[in-house]
Amino acid sequence: MEVIRVPGVMRQTAKGHLLRGRTIGFVPTMGALHRGHLSLVSRCREENDVAVVSIFVNPAQFGPSEDYQAYPRDVEGDMEKLRAEGVDVLFIPDVDGMYPEGFATYVEVEGLSERLCGAFRPGHFRGVATVVTKLLNIVRPTRAYFGLKDYQQAVIIRRLIADLDIDTEMVGCPTVREDDGLAMSSRNLYLSPAERKAATVIYRTLCQAEEALLSGGKGFAEVRSLMERGLAGEPLVKEVQYASLFDPWTLADISSMDANIYRGRTVLLAVAVVIGRARLIDNKLVEVPGVDQVRP
Ligand code: AMP
Repeated sequence: MEVIRVPGVMRQTAKGHLLRGRTIGFVPTMGALHRGHLSLVSRCREENDVAVVSIFVNPAQFGPSEDYQAYPRDVEGDMEKLRAEGVDVLFIPDVDGMYPEGFATYVEVEGLSERLCGAFRPGHFRGVATVVTKLLNIVRPTRAYFGLKDYQQAVIIRRLIADLDIDTEMVGCPTVREDDGLAMSSRNLYLSPAERKAATVIYRTLCQAEEALLSGGKGFAEVRSLMERGLAGEPLVKEVQYASLFDPWTLADISSMDANIYRGRTVLLAVAVVIGRARLIDNKLVEVPGVDQVRP
């Protein structure tokens, strides 16, 4: 595995592969890799001639009171995992390489960035959109792989790729979970054993809300309050930032809408909670049954 730290070197290496007619697959990450990340890496490896992974904890996407300094870092362990996955290139730039003195240009995806997590993390998606645009310009991948665990991020990146005419196909990949349903996340490392156990309430609540939608008897507002009550009922949940139903394309909150409008269509159930010092998110896409498909 080639390890590249300088953006200009990464750009030349990618150019060399492209000139030889090879496809490049790319997985951007912030490191502290777990099986969720590795599922993206393995798919990237399978579908492309050259697999590139980046590790960069991007300061631009952390708010001043957020966990940039504390964010888990394990470069040695990550390298071992990526070597075992057969990754060709690890791109691991430093902050000065990505944001040299005088850096002044940011990418904003309007509308989508203000919803869900955007309301609680001002500037977060501006930082994400900026770094992803830079990484895609440096690596110039044929395909880039993103997890649907960060559903809003995936929608925003799909939008920016289309809007900025970036020549990359975005591939959304399913959420990898622990055996008890908790979505894998580098931030799960922040949880004490009791908090880790309490965190299972997140996926349980999403599944209960899904059941309620599939059985057809409940309106959206009722499903929303079922989710809020489920999460708030766990004593170790310090804060429920949002727990609601959203349109999967526009990310608009649809919990006050008539469920009949979404019959035969997909809705996004999404939550963000704080447990201990971890802010955890998760989501589930649910196809609302058509009028003739309501389960008994
Ligand atoms: P991060 O290192 O948190 O920036 O994540 C890097 C990529 O891995 C993003 O596209 C995430 O959506 C994806 N990812 C993180 N956790 C999971 C998971 N549990 N399942 C699938 N993809 C994930």
